[in-house]
Amino acid sequence: MKTEKVDVLVIGAGPSGTVAAAIIKKAGFSVRIVEKMKFPRFVIGESLLPRCMEALEEAGFLEAVKAKGFQEKFGAKFVKNGKVCDFLFAEQFTPGWSWTWQVPRGEFDKTLADTCETMGIPVSYESTVTGIVFNGSDSVTTVEDSNGNPSQIAARFIVDGSGYGRVIPRLFNMDKPSNLPPRKALFTHVVDTKRSLDGEPNRITIIVHQKGIWIWVIPFSDGNTSLGFVGEPDFFKATECGNTEQQLRDLIASEPYLKERMKDVEFVFEPRVLESYSVSTTRFYGDGFVLTGNVTEFLDPVFSSGVTLATVSSQLAAHLVIKKLHGQPVDWDVDYTQPMMQGVDTFRTYVMAWYDGTLDTIFFADDPVKEIQDMICSVLAGYVWDTNNPYVKDHHRAIPKLAKLIRIRDTMNT
Ligand SMILES: Cc1cc2nc3c(=O)[nH]c(=O)nc-3n(C[C@H](O)[C@H](O)[C@H](O)COP(=O)(O)OP(=O)(O)OC[C@H]3O[C@@H](n4cnc5c(N)ncnc54)[C@H](O)[C@@H]3O)c2cc1C
Repeated sequence: MKTEKVDVLVIGAGPSGTVAAAIIKKAGFSVRIVEKMKFPRFVIGESLLPRCMEALEEAGFLEAVKAKGFQEKFGAKFVKNGKVCDFLFAEQFTPGWSWTWQVPRGEFDKTLADTCETMGIPVSYESTVTGIVFNGSDSVTTVEDSNGNPSQIAARFIVDGSGYGRVIPRLFNMDKPSNLPPRKALFTHVVDTKRSLDGEPNRITIIVHQKGIWIWVIPFSDGNTSLGFVGEPDFFKATECGNTEQQLRDLIASEPYLKERMKDVEFVFEPRVLESYSVSTTRFYGDGFVLTGNVTEFLDPVFSSGVTLATVSSQLAAHLVIKKLHGQPVDWDVDYTQPMMQGVDTFRTYVMAWYDGTLDTIFFADDPVKEIQDMICSVLAGYVWDTNNPYVKDHHRAIPKLAKLIRIRDTMNT
């Protein structure tokens, strides 16, 4: 069987795989990406956060992405019963990027992978990793092409950025259930001819449909908009009617904020369903490999954290892989797992506070305090590693405490 030798094998050509590959390649190492699918391929996760721009910039991707003319994103608007809470990334506590993009991921991910190829990183499409044998930190990976023909890749290190494929956790029994309850999403892209000019298209809108059920509206620069309902599986079961297109149309008609704009709207594809997508893993690294992006942990779509966690984890991991390949010691717990968990746990607090209604109290409060809004805005921009921000450093306590103060104030005012 043919065996190729590389310094680093990257599994998956999504944002996490490509960011890691580019940074490691720039440091002078040989890298190969293997990708199961043919690109462009569909994947959900279309609203980015400003923090991911730093990772895209370091990987050398910004110019190529800019050239695509994707929709610029300047903020996020939350809507509930006619009340609006608008976060603008230009008004935030943490110094950093004030904008990012809303992207159809097929095209966005292809742009990143194509840029990798121009940097001299070969990408093998329609090539699936089926097995890995480690010998210390060296490894031999078996890859099958679309005709089932196997080949082998000997690598000094593996970056597993296989997303929902979860290659290494599955091969080595490292999957761990998430501590978030199972949720479901029903979504499509629509031809958004009645797009409102009220703050759109340069931001996303998140609508609270009812307790625990919310809707994403993510406009793209081509006039289409991504639209999805998210919530407990029971909610979808109760609204089932035999086909997902009619179910989504019925749901749209039941939402006052959308029913006129999306009435008789054309769906670009039959609505898709994703379920129980939150998942975790027992560890983020091992001898000869590191897990990045969704493979480490995926929480929830509500704050668009997925691609940011994917790219930031890869940015961090790439630097540690480079150190390791240079023969320097790496403390993966201190330098990788702990910082990544700091970010993941901050988002987790906000996700839980979203679903239990605590964030509703804060987002839709009358007379919000600007300084606090700016601190929360930084979290929503993905700056979840800035421990100068009290709403990052003390996220567990700060959010419930603020909601409690707002409730007390509102009770006193009535
Ligand atoms: C309903 C929903 C909505 C979401 N919305 C958002 C959002 O608005 N914003 C956001 O930032 N995130 C969102 N996400 C999360 C987002 O989808 C992911 O976090 C993001 O795609 C992770 O990137 P990644 O590079 O880790 O993985 P991926 O983008 O999934 O890329 C992994 C790649 O690995 C390849 N692969 C898999 N198995 C193998 C194998 N055996 N061999 C070779 N290659 C393999 C796959 O084909 C894939 O191309 C959402 C998620 C869900 C479920």
